Amino acid sequence: VAEHAIGIDLGGTFIKAGVVDRGGRVVSRVSVPTEVAQGTEAIIGRMAQAAQDARRLAGLGWDRVAAVGIGSPGALDLNEGVVLVSPNIACLEGRALAREVRQTLDVKQLAVTLENDANAAAYGEFWAGAGRDARALVLFTLGTGIGGGIVLDGRIWHGAHGFAGELGHMAIFADGLPCGCGNHGCVEVYASATGMVRRLVEAVRGGRPTRLAEAVRRGDAVRGRDIHEAALAGDALAREVIEETGRFLGIATTNVIHIFNPDLVLFAGGMTGAGNMLLDPIRQEARRRAFRAAFERVRLDFAKLGNDAGMIGAAGWALRTSATSAS
Ligand SMILES: [Zn+2]
Repeated sequence: VAEHAIGIDLGGTFIKAGVVDRGGRVVSRVSVPTEVAQGTEAIIGRMAQAAQDARRLAGLGWDRVAAVGIGSPGALDLNEGVVLVSPNIACLEGRALAREVRQTLDVKQLAVTLENDANAAAYGEFWAGAGRDARALVLFTLGTGIGGGIVLDGRIWHGAHGFAGELGHMAIFADGLPCGCGNHGCVEVYASATGMVRRLVEAVRGGRPTRLAEAVRRGDAVRGRDIHEAALAGDALAREVIEETGRFLGIATTNVIHIFNPDLVLFAGGMTGAGNMLLDPIRQEARRRAFRAAFERVRLDFAKLGNDAGMIGAAGWALRTSATSAS
């Protein structure tokens, strides 16, 4: 029996592929650079090669692999497996990614499915991570932008046309700053790593003292991690910026609680390295704002699978959907 699936996590910098078993355990993993500048054919070739390498590394024949799941950033046509819009890998727009990877792999009867990367990460956490028993799970991915995924009753919630879960683009200010999406005041503009660093830089330019001031004046790239480290070392502004980020995320979380009545809201991505300094204000803000009955029954926590979540979830969802379509 084909008791494994291969997950491919397509990122702007790296392609990760791994064999995952039916229990959600990673059997092998491979990572190769995406090299966006080399164009579509090269990227598709490397995705297929990474899947092949992961399979060989696991010591399995294709007869033991039930499906391949691809997690891709951007807006996708899930039924056709086509990338519609992908700002960071624009050359893939309009391409039937699932079909092209399948043709490159050239394995008979192999199901290849395409899924949004944040949806895949949410499903991964539901299947094999922090959300195993969750009935309604909502995941925020916190990075240079903010993404999201929703898993309801064990299934990814896609919405009517596959575009659901854009949690980063819920507005938290009526007249807020413009966002790349065309909206104003999106939580992503304020509470992504990019937004957090921008708020710190603005405070420094406004004359606030901080141990990061010199780096800002030099024009060095300040990262979220630098802000966290400064906060740990006692820097008041750095701590304030992180806590404010948590409050913004707490407002977004409150909206999510009111819409979905989730039992679990998870936060993933590099920014979660700030730990309770970020999570405590999220909880405080949601406690202050949300319906009490709903807040008392929701767990707000960090995701568990780290960088593997998208790969595991893409594999798990491919296993699930291939089993459904075969039956
Ligand atoms: Zn937006």
